[in-house]
Amino acid sequence: MSTIDDLTARIRYVLVRTSHPGNIGSAARAIRTMGFQRLELVMPARFPDREANALAAGADEVLESAGIHEDMIGSLAGCSLALGLSARRRGVNLPEISPREAAQQVLAAAARGEQVALVFGNERTGLENEELARCHAMVRIPSVDDFSSLNLSQAVQVMAYELRVAMLGDTPVPPPLHEEPPADAARMEQFYVHLAQTLDDIDFHKGREPTTIMLRLRKLFQRAQPDERELRVLHGILADAQRMAELAKGQ
Ligand code: SAH
Repeated sequence: MSTIDDLTARIRYVLVRTSHPGNIGSAARAIRTMGFQRLELVMPARFPDREANALAAGADEVLESAGIHEDMIGSLAGCSLALGLSARRRGVNLPEISPREAAQQVLAAAARGEQVALVFGNERTGLENEELARCHAMVRIPSVDDFSSLNLSQAVQVMAYELRVAMLGDTPVPPPLHEEPPADAARMEQFYVHLAQTLDDIDFHKGREPTTIMLRLRKLFQRAQPDERELRVLHGILADAQRMAELAKGQ
């Protein structure tokens, strides 16, 4: 049985391309009040910054231990589940869930020992499509349609609160879906690179733009959540296809 501390340690809040250091501070405070510690910052515009500390209002430890990353993949290291928070649906065809449903999924994964990320976008532009494409589902706080965007740190607070409530409740944790934990974000990314390369090698695109099909394929594999062993088989298939393409070229 995992304790609340075990569970919270497996959950990280990722802020992508945050413009205002004050929002980073407020987000640190928001997660700290709900018992969380782990903040990961992807390309923050200004950090560290006095404004962040001022608005953290004592949650300085969260800021001090925050990881800083040059890209989103780095911030997801070790995670097998990433949920992207977005006010708008955007072009990515991801399943959309509520913060409450998200909290259940996050806790179920954390209870199985997996690491999980909740990903928040830039204040003005939100999460880009390619950032959302690295997520397994999109979480939308059900705000009104004509004024749907919350302040970044307030969105963090809503999600952290739902997680806290879910953790304090005694909702039974669903049984594991897999015997093996799903492969983490970095391994999935390696696989997508190999897949894209192989599709090129076998001339799958035939001059068409690969972006849409790659997003579709990502969605398929994100849904399947392959484990390490399954990924090895897939890499093996791709390598053989590449070898055959190479042979065919020689003829
Ligand atoms: N104009 C941007 C708003 C960004 S607000 C957009 O349309 O996406 C900054 C971040 O706060 C968002 O990227 C998202 O992570 C979070 N956020 C704000 N409102 C939200 C909502 N209603 N549901 C889910 N996340 C929200």
